[in-house]
Amino acid sequence: RLHKSADEAVQETNDDAALSKASAVRRGYLDDAFITKFMKKDARRPPIINRGTFVRTHAIDVLVEQFHETCRSQDAHAQIVSLGAGFDTRYFNLKKRGRSFKTYVEVDLSEIVERKMAVIQQHSELTDIIGERQDVDSGLRGNDYVLMKGDLRHWKTVAEALSHILDFDSPILFLSECVLIYLNTHDSDTIVDWISQHCLHAAFVLYEQILPDDPFGQVMIDNLRQRHIELKSIWTYPTLQSQIDRFMSREWSKAFALTISEIHDRVLTPEIRTRISRLELFDEVEEWTLLGNHYCVCWATKGRMDDMKGLQVH
Ligand code: SAM
Repeated sequence: RLHKSADEAVQETNDDAALSKASAVRRGYLDDAFITKFMKKDARRPPIINRGTFVRTHAIDVLVEQFHETCRSQDAHAQIVSLGAGFDTRYFNLKKRGRSFKTYVEVDLSEIVERKMAVIQQHSELTDIIGERQDVDSGLRGNDYVLMKGDLRHWKTVAEALSHILDFDSPILFLSECVLIYLNTHDSDTIVDWISQHCLHAAFVLYEQILPDDPFGQVMIDNLRQRHIELKSIWTYPTLQSQIDRFMSREWSKAFALTISEIHDRVLTPEIRTRISRLELFDEVEEWTLLGNHYCVCWATKGRMDDMKGLQVH
């Protein structure tokens, strides 16, 4: 076939994300014992991409850890839903570090879920962590882990499935790492709105591109467009403030956003910054700043999750 569909193109972004993480692991930025199991190729990405992957992953790890901690201090069981989880290995890494969950749900399109299931089934290191499990039509179910086929453009169907799995009166963290931006604004707004309507105590952690219309943003968009990938809602949420507003206008009680550059310069401890600066030769300083300004981490909370500390700027 000459033309790949838009769905196929968007699924490729999962392979990119996994490749970038594996590259950052290989270079010593990240510690992730599982991501390479999802890779066929030898993973090598340029230093600025490795650094970006590190900052993004570290920031989200900190927020996930804070969510977990806030649940623990309130004697509540943590529930996490990763929207468009792709080959993300966070569940396995957290379990390995001794964290426990009431439920950790991963949602993605059928093809990705099937590929992820196939990899899981080939590795006892992964199946051991899940423990008792069964294959079901919708994916895979363990005691605390659900890998579920779902199309976020049909949120009603996904939400119906989640309602059988989650306890909406207990805290839930929703993760969207480079996912909502591929949906049109109406579909992504529906999700953000539905969560605040249905979940009493919730947190949302989002990572995605911003600033579409400066020269770097235009190149970023053109490069993806050539691969038939559209950053659909970047025009509705082009800035940190608009990212914050997407939550605040939908009855979340707090929302914050920082760029990857800000997180690198002002959230990472000097020790961490020094450690990563020594990992490889890094001379694309200007390009790094441009890249870092075009990605943001945004987090929003409501109910008892308002106690989450959030990323602290120094
Ligand atoms: N969150 C993962 C990470 O950070 O490694 C994967 C990110 S990848 C850039 C985007 C993911 O969103 C892909 O796995 C893709 O299949 C998924 N995705 C895109 N559109 C989706 C939809 N309509 N429903 C469910 N998943 C979707």
